[in-house]
Amino acid sequence: MNLCDVKTIKHIMNVFEIKFRKEFGQNFLINRTVVEDIADNCADSTDTSILEIGPGIGPLTTELALRYRDVVALEIDHGLIPVLKYTLGEFANVTVYNEDVMKADLDALLKPYFDKGRVSVCANLPYYITTPILMKLLECGLPFDYITIMIQSEVADRLCAKAGSSNYGAITAVLAYYGVAEKLFTVSAGNFMPAPKVNSTVVRIKLHKNKPYAPEDEKVFFRTIKGAFEQRRKTLPNALAAAFGELSKDEITAAIVSCGHSADIRGERLGVAEFVALSDELNRLIKAK
Ligand code: SAM
Repeated sequence: MNLCDVKTIKHIMNVFEIKFRKEFGQNFLINRTVVEDIADNCADSTDTSILEIGPGIGPLTTELALRYRDVVALEIDHGLIPVLKYTLGEFANVTVYNEDVMKADLDALLKPYFDKGRVSVCANLPYYITTPILMKLLECGLPFDYITIMIQSEVADRLCAKAGSSNYGAITAVLAYYGVAEKLFTVSAGNFMPAPKVNSTVVRIKLHKNKPYAPEDEKVFFRTIKGAFEQRRKTLPNALAAAFGELSKDEITAAIVSCGHSADIRGERLGVAEFVALSDELNRLIKAK
């Protein structure tokens, strides 16, 4: 069964009496080569379990099941569960849960798979919730090898931006703390049904096994990044003065200068290592209060 074939998709949807649900970001892939390319590139060992988010009717799930040890797929739309039973029935290595990934206990769910060995994530993500899902995957602390996601191209540009460029933002710096992101390829809107208004890009994130950065206080580190970009047009002392009410602007400026930056620098010029150094400086000031 070719689950990327438009006639097949329409037939399945008719038989199971389901419709595309916009509120769940349902844009199904209709190009099998794209699906195969994503599956080929989302892990470097077949001895890997894959967490898939949003299997839809199962085209990517099928290709993942053919290549890797197991697939555990979380699908929010209960109407798709009987469809997935039908389309994936032949695969003993696939387990589908009717779950919202944002509410799922990933630790408990994936423990048996981590006990077996490597685990990576692979997904054609719903656009409406890309960043929260990515943040959950990063912040949950599970040692995934890779997170490979198809997302809106503009978001991909932000994730992979260089410090100082217009696309560089808080999410870029936060992501660089957890791993290294690379764009694999772009997929035009015509490869989906229904076609979205924007193009998509597949991004692969290789998570650091041992983080190269160790801020003294992670909370202060994330506050520093968030504060630096919340008021993007402001210089860093002004932006951080708004974020760190417990410190004076003079103290913040002194911390920035002591890290080797000029007092009128903007946050978008700082790479992740520089944010770590600055947050350590701010942390020392806060602790001395
Ligand atoms: N993987 C399929 C494909 O490539 O054709 C479908 C991808 S579609 C862009 C996104 C899928 O994620 C849909 O099946 C949708 O129902 C599901 N989804 C949306 N929000 C979700 C959530 N919070 N948790 C789990 N699945 C979700």
